[in-house]
Amino acid sequence: MNVLDSELVVGALRNEGYELTDDIKQADTVLFNTCSVREHAEHKIYSQLGRMKFSKRYRPNQVIGVMGCMAQKDQKKIFERAPHVDIVVGTGQLGEIPELVDQARSNRRRSLAVSLGRRDGSRNQVAQSFESYDPLRDPEMRPSPFQAYVRIMIGCDKFCTYCVVPTTRGPEQSRPPSHIASEVRTLAGQGVKEVTLLGQTVNSYKHTEDGQLYRLSELLELIHDTDGIERIKFVTNYPRDMTVDLLEAVRDLKKVSRYLHVPAQSGCNEMLKAMKRGYTVEEYREMMERINSIVPRAAVSSDFIVGFCGETDEAFEKSMDLIRECRFKNSFIFKYSARPGTKADDMMPDDIPEDVKRERNNRMLDLQNMISEEDNAEFIGEQVEVLVEGPSKQAIKSGEADGDALKTQLVGRTDCDRIVVFEGNPRLAGSLTNVEVHDCTATTLIGSIVTREVQHGSGELLPILS
Ligand code: SF4
Repeated sequence: MNVLDSELVVGALRNEGYELTDDIKQADTVLFNTCSVREHAEHKIYSQLGRMKFSKRYRPNQVIGVMGCMAQKDQKKIFERAPHVDIVVGTGQLGEIPELVDQARSNRRRSLAVSLGRRDGSRNQVAQSFESYDPLRDPEMRPSPFQAYVRIMIGCDKFCTYCVVPTTRGPEQSRPPSHIASEVRTLAGQGVKEVTLLGQTVNSYKHTEDGQLYRLSELLELIHDTDGIERIKFVTNYPRDMTVDLLEAVRDLKKVSRYLHVPAQSGCNEMLKAMKRGYTVEEYREMMERINSIVPRAAVSSDFIVGFCGETDEAFEKSMDLIRECRFKNSFIFKYSARPGTKADDMMPDDIPEDVKRERNNRMLDLQNMISEEDNAEFIGEQVEVLVEGPSKQAIKSGEADGDALKTQLVGRTDCDRIVVFEGNPRLAGSLTNVEVHDCTATTLIGSIVTREVQHGSGELLPILS
């Protein structure tokens, strides 16, 4: 979500004549896009802001801004801790940034633009104060020219006890399907092959337009036939909304990736209740059975929090059991970090010592890595279809991909989101290519491009790169 917000803000500023620079010393405007999900991310921003104080001494006209979740959460506190900051802009006011930057430069006026708190008005008033921001796109800011994020909803109404998102991103609001379909068409026209639909609980998407109710399954159907789009993904899912109609859409619509990220957070009912996740571990298991029976070989990934308030050894072991049983493709594992303003922070002691959290985190990571590597090994000898993203990070770092290299290490993903590296011509970026897998790690399949043979005019069989 933050990557997309950055793309949109850069697009809007470029439209006003701004240019990006890699050198922060040259920048006359510096904007920090921030995350509040974990305490560590916030500390990093405050220490970066501290360093900016010196930069401003040498460039008094520099405009410094903080945007995103931390801006919505900390508001004036940011000016108190970093008085050299000029603008603080929440997630619901990103559209105002070009104007606020201009004002800060011309009047040296400090601005705070944030949405209402969840208790500061009716649901409608609060929702209106969080505006979905989906204007100009900027191809240069995308993960790759062939991939783009598309926001289909904002906010969240689930109120898990540990989470700041319902406060920082506001009430759950779905965008009209016609707007989404038109954005996907525009992106396809710009050469995008893969779109990832975004929402905090993307499968809770619901919007009525022209008398028709669109859920995520209907939305997928609506955009499926967009010319030029080869792949459609969606993240992140809420377990209770993983419904049969959605799974059938994943099964039946060829371009929809068979990759489902469905955070479990814990395998213990007492913890799930304390987190207010809204389901039991038995219901999560039933959901996994539903996925496996409707979309066989779907890749499912998950999130887990270790060391949540009151998590006993036994409760932690239940999460480990769930990972063993579900054999997730991968899991994002987080040590619990208390977030001010959440119910868990207000009402539950953060009572698991840091070393216990760390040890549980490491054990869970080891287990998940072992499973991921075993599952990846099953692909050895198989051919997989890969959407090529471009040169791998390693090739870029070593300079191998510079200039007109005819062959370099490329990276791409299968339709179940497995990362694949292989040698090939950088011009394959953006195309679908068959790769035979001959090795793997826990995170990556390693292979080579499948060559096919074509009948040449002379009758001679020539191998060509697919
Ligand atoms: S569903 Fe996700 S975004 Fe919403 S409150 Fe729970 S953890 Fe946060």
